[in-house]
Amino acid sequence: MARVGVLAVQGAFIEHENALRELGHECVELRQRADIRNLDALVLPGGESTVQGKLLRELEMFDPLRELIVAGLPTLGTCAGLILLATKLDADPTVHFGTFPATVRRNAYGRQLGSFHTRAPFGDLGEVDMTFIRAPYIVEAAPEVEILAKVDGKIVAAQYKNQIGLAFHPELDKDRRIYTMLVG
Ligand code: GLN
Repeated sequence: MARVGVLAVQGAFIEHENALRELGHECVELRQRADIRNLDALVLPGGESTVQGKLLRELEMFDPLRELIVAGLPTLGTCAGLILLATKLDADPTVHFGTFPATVRRNAYGRQLGSFHTRAPFGDLGEVDMTFIRAPYIVEAAPEVEILAKVDGKIVAAQYKNQIGLAFHPELDKDRRIYTMLVG
C-alpha cells in the first residue's frame, strides 16, 4: 500500500482518490504545505492549470512539490496536471513546475472537439479508455521522453523518468492499470 498525495486545491481530485483507494492505497489530500510529507507518489489532477498554478504559489506548496518531483517522486499529471509539469507551453510564456521536457498546447482540440472519449494503444497495456475534457496534447517532446500513446497522430501520454503525463482523465474510466504503473 502506498501513501499517495493528491493535489486538492482545485479540479477533479476526488475521482483520483477513489481510483487509488480501489487499489488499496492511502490518499492524502494536499491542500496546504503541511500536508506534503511522507509521500510515495503524487497525483496532479485535471482542472484549470492557471488557477492551480496560482494557488500552489499562494499556498507555498510550489517549491516543496517541485523539489519532490525533481528528486524522483513518482508523479502522475493528468490534463491540467500535465500542463503544470511541462517545461514549455505552446504560444504561452507560462511555466509552472517545468520538470517534464515537452511542449504542451492547452485547449488543443478547439471548442467543438473539447471533450470526447476514445480508446487507443497505451505503452505495454494494449488499448486504454481515454476521456478528454478541454484537453491539451504534447506538441513536441525531448528525445528522452518515452511516448506512451497517440490519438490522431497527437501525443496524449508520455513518460519522463518518474513523471507520467496524460492529456486525458484515467480517473473517469474503469481501467486502473495506469495507476498501477504509478504505484505498483
Ligand atoms: N483546459 C484546462 C487547462 O488549460 C485543462 C482541462 C482539464 O484539466 N480537464 O488547464
